[in-house]
Amino acid sequence: MSRTIAVPAGIFLACTILTSSTPFAASQSALEQKFDAAVQPEQMGAWLKQLAAEPNHLGSPHDRENAETVLAWFQQWGWDAHIETFDVLYPTPISETLEMVAPRRFKVDLDEPAIRGDSSSTAKERGLPPYVAYQGDGDATGELIYVNYGMKDDYTMLERMGVDIKGKIVIARYGSGWRGLKPKLAQDHGAIGCIIYSDPADDGYSLDAVYPDGPARPAKGVQRGSVVDMPLYAGDPLTPGVGATKDAKRLDRSQAPDLLKIPTLPISYADAQVLLSALEGNVVPAAWRGALPITYRVGPGPARVRIAVKSDWSLKTTYNVIATLKGSTYPDQWIVRGNHRDGWVFGATDPLSGQVVMLQEAKILGEFVRTGWRPKRTIIYASWDGEEPGLLGSTEWAETHAMELKKKAVIYINSDSNMRGFLDVGGSHDFEHFVNQVAADVMDPETNVTVGERRRAKQRIDALEPAAKEPAKEIARIAADPKRDFYIDALGSGSDYSAFLEHLGLPALDVGYADEGNSDGVYHSRYDTYEHHSRWVDPGFVYAAVLAKTTGRMVLRLADADLPVRRASNFAEAIGRYLKEVQKLAKDKREEAERQAKLLSDRSFQLAADPTKTSGVPTALKRVPKFDLSPLEKASLRLTKSARAYDVAFAKNATRLDTKSRVRLQALMQTIDQTLAPQVWLTGRPWYKNLIYAPGRFTGYGVKTLPGVREGIEDQRFEDVNRYAKLIADALSAYSARLDQATAVLSGH
Ligand SMILES: [Zn+2]
Repeated sequence: MSRTIAVPAGIFLACTILTSSTPFAASQSALEQKFDAAVQPEQMGAWLKQLAAEPNHLGSPHDRENAETVLAWFQQWGWDAHIETFDVLYPTPISETLEMVAPRRFKVDLDEPAIRGDSSSTAKERGLPPYVAYQGDGDATGELIYVNYGMKDDYTMLERMGVDIKGKIVIARYGSGWRGLKPKLAQDHGAIGCIIYSDPADDGYSLDAVYPDGPARPAKGVQRGSVVDMPLYAGDPLTPGVGATKDAKRLDRSQAPDLLKIPTLPISYADAQVLLSALEGNVVPAAWRGALPITYRVGPGPARVRIAVKSDWSLKTTYNVIATLKGSTYPDQWIVRGNHRDGWVFGATDPLSGQVVMLQEAKILGEFVRTGWRPKRTIIYASWDGEEPGLLGSTEWAETHAMELKKKAVIYINSDSNMRGFLDVGGSHDFEHFVNQVAADVMDPETNVTVGERRRAKQRIDALEPAAKEPAKEIARIAADPKRDFYIDALGSGSDYSAFLEHLGLPALDVGYADEGNSDGVYHSRYDTYEHHSRWVDPGFVYAAVLAKTTGRMVLRLADADLPVRRASNFAEAIGRYLKEVQKLAKDKREEAERQAKLLSDRSFQLAADPTKTSGVPTALKRVPKFDLSPLEKASLRLTKSARAYDVAFAKNATRLDTKSRVRLQALMQTIDQTLAPQVWLTGRPWYKNLIYAPGRFTGYGVKTLPGVREGIEDQRFEDVNRYAKLIADALSAYSARLDQATAVLSGH
């Protein structure tokens, strides 16, 4: 999965900066130079070509073959490796029908034809047809309605247009929020079927020439994907919270709460144009127009469509490859690094561009071991299967080994699709400074400055855009100050870090390069191939090499550092920003509800509507009460103080600690992030235990920081707000208390 998502950042919070606090020995630097010299772009290219030669979705013969191949490579490189399997619910289509039955007949062929010069035309296996996994099987016929992106705001607008969704089939365009929410919201509003298509305004010819003449989505390209209700929980739908081992207790499929009930299919814009141009009714609001050469209308009808899907719901086997290099000094402290291996069809960019980088690192680490080096900590590399349907391989593994991971894992480092461009990194903010240090030591091959400098330049230039908002300007101000660390993003979901970060509460980083190479146009289609990747996404595998140097350095430094690498002030600052954001959100929502109440009472919606067209009024928003965020404000202040004291004591004394104190310090800091995921959870979704970072209930991949409070306000669950303000405050206080203990060790108390 994994598509870059813009994350709202916050407001500037002043903080004294400390000098670099984690000294790396000269031998470390020499080791990293050796690592860089061993990176071979051509080799990564050759691996990618081999792994992407046939369709490799979960359950396919080539996916299994790739697992065996990757296993053999790890073993050949000196790793202790094995395949660990899980049995998961994963539906694949048996039959799919989508046709317009009125005002004229038109059958959608649901096929992606071969493209000249691309390997997709020569592969032996066809792979799966376009479909979305975990939609609800069924056979429905009804009037068609266009619902724009099919997100919450769009349904509010439909109310104002006086359009009823009940018993209809909706057609939504991709974009604006996660795919899986489109059929879910349609279903919640009474729709009986859902069609999702890629509009060329967001994904197609208005962005660039289409493949093979350019990177953009061709007319018959279709985005597949998962529509499981992942914001509820990740992993196998039948075994929430526990590993899907052979003898695991499983839910009956009818009881799995994250499965959709209505049939849903994805289609191309070539086919969508035929359906959309058959709609009548209101012309859409300006913001709803796509780039097809038609007048966009809402409907409903007179177009009527039939959608029918039947799937094979048998359990399928996931093949995770798990490889270990045992640590010499701290064998029970683990650095875990992963990338998924399964794609939707050939999966060249998503995920193999990241998979081959991980393999490159593993090969070099293996060579190091052969020539006498041993990591101090244990390093575990994981080639995940079944990520695309729902983070299945990584989640089941994390759930199965939960107790051991909580005791031993120092961090989880993830990557996924990788392309030419700028460093794109998100994760736990106490590792923000560590990320900055690594980014200051990796060179960008296109500009010969460090990838950190280049990222800062990009952030500063992006803020000049006329549409740039305050968060982007704030990011630019920080980036302009070389004494400050550039911000890393907060993580939501959409790749394999989710179970580690959000279910187990371990710190995580997600690292890649993006923005120059273009893979969006073939995302989850049959055209995400070796040919497309090596031509349009990362020619020469140059940025595969840059990513290997970045994540390779992270692994080497974390494996060998005798002292914790966290800088607590960065985390405290992030919390300060998020707190300001939710305070502003509460104020804005209160004003919005008051404004709407007035518009409803003086009948402004009716008076502003064109009486020759259908219209309606929006559902009244709840009045927003006064919230008590004071526990959170106090906890944030305490965290700022404790963090500063820790960072100062660390800079002053860390390198002078005796062995006993150093071991004590390591132990205190190793599990500190888990204080943020106590045994409480988010309302209605107990799988999500991290109280700081979560994917939004109604954004899917997009992150919601301080989710209990933020979503309480956004989703009008006002009774939750004060409760979670207190719960988050308690978690932050536990984090601060742990820091205070570490500071005492550093100060010799
Ligand atoms: Zn992916």
